[in-house]
Amino acid sequence: MQESQILFALKKYFGYSQFRFHQEEAVQRCLTAQNSLVVMPTGGGKSLCYQLPAVLLEGMTLVVSPLIALMRDQVTSLTNNGIPAAALNSECTPEEEDRIRQAASTGALKLLYVSPERAVSGAFCDWVSQQKLALVAIDEAHCVSIWGNDFRPEYARLADLLSRLPQIPVIALTATADEATRREIVDKLQLPDCQTMVSSFERPNLHLEAFPALQRMQAIERYLRRNPDQAGIIYCLSRKSTEETARKLQQKGFRARHYHARMDPEDRREVQAQFQQDQVDIICATIAFGMGIDKPNIRFVIHYNMPKNLESYYQEIGRAGRDGEPAEALLFAGYNDVRTYLDFIERSEGSEVYRQVQREKLFRMWEFTQTQSCRTNAILAYFGEHRVTGCGHCDICLDPPQGFDGTVVAQKALSACYRLGQNVGTNTLIDVLRGTLSPEVLAGQMQDIKTFGAGSDIGWKHWQSYLGQLVNQGLLCIDYHRQSRLSLTSLSAEVLKGQRQVQLCEPRDPKAQRKVLKDPGDQNTDYDQALYDLLAALRRELCEEAGSVPAYTIFSNASLQEMARRKPTSLVLFGDISGVGARKLEKFGDRFVQKISEYQSQNALESL
Ligand code: ADP
Ligand code: ZN
Repeated sequence: MQESQILFALKKYFGYSQFRFHQEEAVQRCLTAQNSLVVMPTGGGKSLCYQLPAVLLEGMTLVVSPLIALMRDQVTSLTNNGIPAAALNSECTPEEEDRIRQAASTGALKLLYVSPERAVSGAFCDWVSQQKLALVAIDEAHCVSIWGNDFRPEYARLADLLSRLPQIPVIALTATADEATRREIVDKLQLPDCQTMVSSFERPNLHLEAFPALQRMQAIERYLRRNPDQAGIIYCLSRKSTEETARKLQQKGFRARHYHARMDPEDRREVQAQFQQDQVDIICATIAFGMGIDKPNIRFVIHYNMPKNLESYYQEIGRAGRDGEPAEALLFAGYNDVRTYLDFIERSEGSEVYRQVQREKLFRMWEFTQTQSCRTNAILAYFGEHRVTGCGHCDICLDPPQGFDGTVVAQKALSACYRLGQNVGTNTLIDVLRGTLSPEVLAGQMQDIKTFGAGSDIGWKHWQSYLGQLVNQGLLCIDYHRQSRLSLTSLSAEVLKGQRQVQLCEPRDPKAQRKVLKDPGDQNTDYDQALYDLLAALRRELCEEAGSVPAYTIFSNASLQEMARRKPTSLVLFGDISGVGARKLEKFGDRFVQKISEYQSQNALESL
C-alpha cells in the first residue's frame, strides 16, 4: 500500500496528519502481515498501531483487551470516527452478543474487542476461526508474564487461539519496559519472526516531583485548591489511611472516595464507575486500584507514601495523563516508609535471595526520592535507557538545587555519629546535633559527648535532608540489619580529617510555588481561553446528548486548544484541526464552527 494512501486514511479516520514515533513502522508491519511487539509508554499512541491497519485491511481485526471500561470507550471513539466496532465481554446480554456475532459474520465490523476469558473459550475459538480476520491485536500483552503484577492465566492460553489462526498477523502491545517481560511475551504467544519496537519510556507530559513526607495533608489540600475539579488518584499504603484521607478531603469539600481490596466488590465497582464518569474527582486508594481503571483524563497521581520500588512507582504514575495532556506525579517520601517496607520484607515468605532483591529495589526507590539530579533520567536509567540531558519536566530540572560547601556540616554529623559509637539512628543523631534533651538522649547520656548541640543553628528538617544527602553520597551508611542505625563508611575518615570536601544542597521547600508546567511541545500556550471554555461547554453538551460518553471520545483537549487558537470559521478550515477526521467533521463540525463564528462576530462587535 502506498504511503499517501496510509496518510490519507490517518487524516480521514483519526484526523491526524503525522505519525508518532514507531507508529508508522508498526502499521506497515500489520499491513504486510508480519508479527510485531510494540512497546510504548502509556499515552504513546498504541491503539492507532492496530486501528489504522484495521481500517485499511480487508476483514475484521480482533482485539484482545482485559479492560472492560477501556473497551467501551474505544468502541465509542471508533464509532465517532466512523469505524464500525463492537465489544464482547461479560457485560453483554445474550441478545447483544448474537447481534454482534451476526454483524461480524456479515463483515459489518472492522474491529471486535474481546476479553481474554472470552478469547480462549472453545466456543469462541471455533467461531472466530471461521470469520474473515485481518489482524489480531493483543493489548496489555505483559499480562502473559507471571512475574509482573498483572498476570492473567487466560493470556498464557492465547497461543492456542493464535494457533487456530495461522495466517493472521499478530500485533502485541504493552507499556511494560523490561527486557525479560518482552522476551516472555514473544515466547509465550509463539510469534514467529516477531519484531519488537521499543519507544523511549519518557512521558513528556508527566511532571515529576518529590517532597519529604511532612505536612502532607496541607500540601495536598493546597495542591487540590490550586487545581480544582481535576481527576486524580492518591495512593496510600494502608487501607485505613485511604479511608482517613478520603474522609478528610470530603470534609474539606472535595469529591473524594476511598478504595481498597477489602471493600465489598459492589462498592468497589461503584467507586470505579463514579470515577470513570467524572462523578468523583479523587480516589484515595491502595495499589489495589489500578488494573481495570482506564481513565485517560487523570490529571494527577499523588503518592501519600513512597511505593515499594521504581517499577511500581512508574506503573502507578503511568495512570496519569493517558490522553497525552499535561499531568502531575507528586511523591511524598519519608524514611518511615522504608522501615515499614523492610518489616514487610522481613515477614514475607520467600527465600533470602528474593528478600535481598526486594531490599535492593526498595533502596533504589529511596535514593530516587532523595536524588538531586533529573528524576526522569533516574527512572530511564533504572529501565536501561541512559542519557545525560535533563528532561525539563521534573522538579529538579525546573528548579535545580542550590549547592554549598557543606564540609563543616558533614564533619559535625560524622563526628557525632562516631562519638555515639555508630549506634543511633537518624532521629537521635539529629537530637544530639541540635542539643535536644530527648528521652533517648537522656537515657544514653548523650548530652555529654563533645558534639552535643554542635549543630543547633540548623533546623530539624534541614538536618534530616543533609543526613539523607550524606547517605546518598556514600559518607554515611544506614545499617538495615541494625534497626537502621547510622554508621561511617570508608570515605568518612577523609572528610573528618579535612581531606575531602562535601557539597550539600538546600532542602527543597515543599511550600514553594511550583514552576508552571511545561506544555508538551510548547505550542499549546497561546490559545484563546474564553473560546476554549465555550468549546469545552459545547463538548460537555454533546457528551450528555450521546449518553454521558467520556469527553475525549468527542474531541481531545489538544484538539479544542487548537480550535481556540486557529478559530476556524468554515468546515474546510475546521477539517484541518488535528483530531478532526471526516466523520467527526460531518457529525460535530457544524456546531463547533457555529460556536466559533458566533464568538468571533461577538468580539468584532465589541471592538467596534
Ligand atoms: P496508549 O494506548 O499507548 O496509552 P493511546 O492509543 O490511547 O495511547 O493514545 C494516546 C493519545 O494520543 C490519544 O488521545 C490519541 O488519540 C493520541 N494520538 C495517537 N496517535 C496520534 C498521532 N499520530 N497524532 C496525534 N495524536 C495521536
Ligand atoms: Zn528532569
